Amino acid sequence: NKLTAQKKVRSEDQYSPGGHTNMRPNRASIVYGNLCRQAFSGVAVILGRNKASLRRIAHYDYWSDSIRRSVLLDSKADMLIFGMGERPVWELADRLAGGETLEDLRNVRGTAHVLRKGQWEHIEPSRFIRDRKPVFLPGYDEIKESKEQFSQMSGAFQKETNPGNGRPLIQPHGHEAVYLNPPAEPLTTEIMDGLYDLPFTRYPHPSYDAGIPAYETVKHSIVTMRGCFGGCSFCSITEHEGRVIQSRSEESVLREIRALRRMDDFAGVISDVGGPTANMYQMKCKDERIEKACRRLSCIHPGICENLITDHAPLVQLLGKVREAKGVKKAFIASGVRYDLAERSEEFVEVLAEHHTGGQLSVAPEHVDEDVLDKMKKPGAESYERFAEMFDCASKKTGKDQHLVPYYISGHPGSTTHSMIELALYLKKRGLRPRQVQDFIPTPMSMATSMYVTELDPFTQEPVYVAKSLREKRLQKALLQYWDIAQHDLAREALIKARRGDLIGSTDRHLVPPASGKGALSIHEKRRRQRPQDQPRGRLGRRAATTGGRRRK
Ligand code: SF4
Repeated sequence: NKLTAQKKVRSEDQYSPGGHTNMRPNRASIVYGNLCRQAFSGVAVILGRNKASLRRIAHYDYWSDSIRRSVLLDSKADMLIFGMGERPVWELADRLAGGETLEDLRNVRGTAHVLRKGQWEHIEPSRFIRDRKPVFLPGYDEIKESKEQFSQMSGAFQKETNPGNGRPLIQPHGHEAVYLNPPAEPLTTEIMDGLYDLPFTRYPHPSYDAGIPAYETVKHSIVTMRGCFGGCSFCSITEHEGRVIQSRSEESVLREIRALRRMDDFAGVISDVGGPTANMYQMKCKDERIEKACRRLSCIHPGICENLITDHAPLVQLLGKVREAKGVKKAFIASGVRYDLAERSEEFVEVLAEHHTGGQLSVAPEHVDEDVLDKMKKPGAESYERFAEMFDCASKKTGKDQHLVPYYISGHPGSTTHSMIELALYLKKRGLRPRQVQDFIPTPMSMATSMYVTELDPFTQEPVYVAKSLREKRLQKALLQYWDIAQHDLAREALIKARRGDLIGSTDRHLVPPASGKGALSIHEKRRRQRPQDQPRGRLGRRAATTGGRRRK
């Protein structure tokens, strides 16, 4: 959150009062873990939440461009809870209250602990798997030295993320090792409802003296589910929330609307009804036994699994009840919509267009190049086109002038200057001018990060092209902003390097005008183009303005 993809300090911290920066230390889990250890000698320190969860094994750190040890070792904590954490917290609390010690609690799902020298060579068999054997991941020292070992570690880790069949993992770090139990079981609807019925105040802590930007985005939103079976390479939601969708009941969501109505500043507008993916509500594998045995990393790539129930009826029904709830004037869907699923339900797309879109709907096709999309584990561009067509028709039916805001990623592993040129030409042909282009950031533990570090596919070990230098990443991003005169110098540089000087010129078939001479922009034209109201519109995503706070999918 502190630095951009270009490693520059952000001007605002979304999670701090007043958006002020530098209010939290770098690597806060490590700093706070060590401070707790100093301040409360003899008290067990247990680390948790996403910062710790996504650094539970040795991982790549983009900001320092280095491989770091598991955060459990550097924080000096006694235990680490990974995933959303409710089940392990309950089990730990119950067993501690029952008189067990931390030493006894080494077999709790969703937790990790440290094994000292001599312990991990003769490890106790696991109670969670039939042959009781854990998987040894390549050690920290090995992955630091060898890209192949890092890549194999990533692939092996990913294969053990299904709580139904995941094995415990052991990763040596010198004389010590980190032991990870299998992930916690997903929550049932009943438990999810119980969680959301807890008496949250829905306000930031009163000690904060200024507004928190991220809170403003979510304060009037409702989470209907958690988890994601998409398995996009660049995303770590699955590693944290799990692959199985865990949904709340309609009654629970309606109870939360009643709580929203009690908020001072709620004026009847729900900013988002969703979750990691808005339209995965209540979707699941057709058979729990198949789901428990499944070793696939995505239920929808490559292609939607025939065992996946993609029925949108529960969501359509829920949305209907939300709209009818007392005190609700409007309920938006701002969470990402998986268009390859949505295109299976005309009814959902119509409801979405008629009732839940505020003029613009964010979707994330991410790219058009088949190879890059395959590395991202995203559906092909034709799926996005079909969805765009459906959304356009549904919007016209309701007489609304609304459009899609497509999001794209530059610099993703597999993405070359040539594939970015292909994407830029695709955008230009359709009159699309993406204002928000995400320059790829390698976040800890994602599959894309493994590709970024090793330039290898973590499952096939085949080479993957990676734009590593910050300059090349900037050039890739500039191509997608071909319409922005501030990016023209970089875009021209990218085109010349790729030997595509034929795309520099002033006609429709060109991407950017020349810097000088015939066809170059006049001062007057440059000024005119800087005015946003002069940007032309296109069918698939017209006047793609910044939407702020929308989640990508
Ligand atoms: S069998 Fe198919 S639907 Fe079921 S969990 Fe595996 S990939 Fe998902």
